[in-house]
Amino acid sequence: MADLRREPAPIELAPGEFRQLGHVLVDEIADFLDSLPRRPVTTGESPAEIRAFLGNAPLPEHGAPPDELLREAASLLFEHSLFSGHPRFWGYIVGAPAPIGALADLLAASVNPNVGGFQLSPIATEIEAQTVRWIAELVGFPTDCGGLLVTGGNMANFIGFVAARTARAGHPIREQGAGHAPLRVYASAETHTWIEKATDLFGLGTESLRWIPTDREQRIDIRALQERIRADRAAGDIPLLVVGAAGTVSTGAIDPLDALADLCRDEDIWFHVDGAYGAFAAALPDAPAELRALARADSLALDPHKWLYQPVEAGCALVRDPEKLRGAFSYRPVYYHLARAPEEDEDAPINYFELGPQNSRGFRALKVWLALRQVGRAGYVRMISEDCALARELYRLVEAEPDLEAGTTSLSITTFRYVPAGTTDDEYLNELNAELLTRLEAGGEAYLSNAIVDGRFYLRACIVNFRTTAEDIRALPGIVVRIGREAHRDLAPARR
Ligand SMILES: *Cc1c(COP(=O)(O)O)cnc(C)c1O
Repeated sequence: MADLRREPAPIELAPGEFRQLGHVLVDEIADFLDSLPRRPVTTGESPAEIRAFLGNAPLPEHGAPPDELLREAASLLFEHSLFSGHPRFWGYIVGAPAPIGALADLLAASVNPNVGGFQLSPIATEIEAQTVRWIAELVGFPTDCGGLLVTGGNMANFIGFVAARTARAGHPIREQGAGHAPLRVYASAETHTWIEKATDLFGLGTESLRWIPTDREQRIDIRALQERIRADRAAGDIPLLVVGAAGTVSTGAIDPLDALADLCRDEDIWFHVDGAYGAFAAALPDAPAELRALARADSLALDPHKWLYQPVEAGCALVRDPEKLRGAFSYRPVYYHLARAPEEDEDAPINYFELGPQNSRGFRALKVWLALRQVGRAGYVRMISEDCALARELYRLVEAEPDLEAGTTSLSITTFRYVPAGTTDDEYLNELNAELLTRLEAGGEAYLSNAIVDGRFYLRACIVNFRTTAEDIRALPGIVVRIGREAHRDLAPARR
């Protein structure tokens, strides 16, 4: 017994060893980041090909030297990944990751504050609180709001949803559950799929969801919304929550947030804004007025791992009334030594486990905090407005290209499709553009995803990427037209 742990544990790294491994790894990462523009965006390898690189060895019984393991892991990741930090990655909505975020995650993991409770994370807790205030300030939301960092946009939206559910259900829903309470939730047909998961997970059921149609600009139809709320009330239902989009996931459309806020005020309904993609654009001096009205929301979801360019995972939920956030999540179990309750003491510590669903929590705030300080408001305003300008430039280029048809452009999303001369059959064009996208994505020259607008399959570029240059954007139409011609040549004969 006396000799136990006289030798270091097998997982320990001696200080010199850690230093050595770390230096080598950081050098490799620096070379990798430098090489990004010369690499394909992705290799397009199949799951089977990827699996083969790992083999199917059983769990190792004994350990291996960490230098070899790190070298091998770095090489696997560098050679077989999709790089959201590549200057020509414009798929979905995934931010290019800021290098300082990578270093911040290393630092956070090394100290490992558990930001569930103040006692476990004194300085980290206050850094998170300051980060939340700064995020609110950046987008014009009241800085005395409640809020916390979460894994991403889905989770941030869930927080707003649960706060609304507790505050507005009209019965003690935390104790009694949703049961058969006829709670209703309103969102436009363009709303991200988080809303389905939320109604399902939090006990309302997806049938509580009222999908409201959109206008020609993919914005929620306010008249249709009003009528639906009226009809539901007449039937004895309880309108709980209206979701407004500060940038829809498909085309970046911005709902008429000011009008939605008025309606929610008049109808006494919780107003939640999904700003996972677009909220940070409210920081721009020339931001659309509609976007600025996100400041009127009861709750707001944002995604630092999108337009604050943080590595995944980093989402952020803000709730106007901090007590509504605590009221939705707080329990104070006896096995936590919590000296003071916030209602008893203004200077009571923040315990984040009381403000969200997680118990143990990582220090996600550090990377966001450091990036906000590295570039300041001005740095973000510049990068976000350049992303938007690049998307508009793409729209202009596409309009000028005879074989391409421009679709939409809003915030930093531009949609378009390949239309070979003389082709008008939408069904064929959908098939052709889907095939084009498959080939483009596998080829690695540039990476787009798609949007379906009015039944049409569009290619979609979403620029949340501080590395993209005007030259990258100018290269895209030519790449798309070339791959489009090849796909058309292969597909067209089968139609005849
Ligand atoms: C990305 C996105 C989400 C989901 O966010 P995750 O970070 O992927 O969980 C929700 N809503 C909108 C509008 C989004 O753009």
